[in-house]
Amino acid sequence: MRKAAEASIKVALEARGWGAALCSLDALADALAELEGLRDEGRIAAEVYRRYLGGFDRAPPERLPKASSLLILAAPLGPSILALQTEAGPFEAIIPPTYGIPELRSEAEAVFGPLLAAAGAGFTRARVPLKALAARAGLGRYGRDNILRREGLGSYFRLESWWTELEAEEGSWGPPEPLESCASCGACAAACPNGCLRPGNFVVDASRCTTFLNEGDGAFPGWLGAGAHDAAVGCLRCQGACPENPRLTELAPLRRIELDLRESESLFEGRLLPDSAACRAALAAAEMDDSPELLGRNLRALRLARGAR
Ligand code: SF4
Ligand code: SF4
Repeated sequence: MRKAAEASIKVALEARGWGAALCSLDALADALAELEGLRDEGRIAAEVYRRYLGGFDRAPPERLPKASSLLILAAPLGPSILALQTEAGPFEAIIPPTYGIPELRSEAEAVFGPLLAAAGAGFTRARVPLKALAARAGLGRYGRDNILRREGLGSYFRLESWWTELEAEEGSWGPPEPLESCASCGACAAACPNGCLRPGNFVVDASRCTTFLNEGDGAFPGWLGAGAHDAAVGCLRCQGACPENPRLTELAPLRRIELDLRESESLFEGRLLPDSAACRAALAAAEMDDSPELLGRNLRALRLARGAR
């Protein structure tokens, strides 16, 4: 019954174009040990580990103590477009695919939840190292930029995970695999303005990554070039240069948020106009609902970067 549930969950999710895999608790232990090893060797900076990699679930949570697997979902997504206005004319700012889609979780749960319930198995959201687990489950291969690629989608997909009471099949995960085409490419390293992709070290220096800097608070460091910024949050330079990725302009946007001049100016200034649904939508799309000042800082940097190029 439970075996059949796993198969029908995968079929139901894949019918929507989503990839899915069940991972065991052993795969989680492997993934956590790998990350801790990289941190201990100094190949992942302490501040990067603290912000993104600390605090993962290490065991099933109290609300589902008999969980025995992790369901990993890979859902293709397009970018969000902020269509702003300035005195000089329209100004578009991209938000990379993978940001701002909390509804994906409830959509997925509506698909697999009833199938799990029919098998007598519970589920609950998990906070686990998604990329490391998805790589082990065969849902993607690591590119030189340490971002996973899936055939046909490249890196433009979002990962989510849930604890489940299904048993993961023995041998359904393995060591992470690199993308074969990276051996003769290097386009992402050439495109990175911050030198994050270090020769002889497969692990990127995420502490210098524009994404790490513009998702965090505070002023940008002095060494960051004015031309580095290319998005309202995050950075798409390495992914945009990758021949394994579709062109961003070919992806159907996830959403396009139109802002008038008044709304745009308030966002550039880092203020939320309380009466503006578009401002709130822009902040939610960037996952900065409570931090308009951060989105404003990023938009001003992006405007400067366009002038700087
Ligand atoms: S996301 Fe941007 S800054 Fe980060 S590694 Fe890629 S190109 Fe470099
Ligand atoms: S740009 Fe080239 S080297 Fe970088 S991830 Fe893509 S295929 Fe690999």
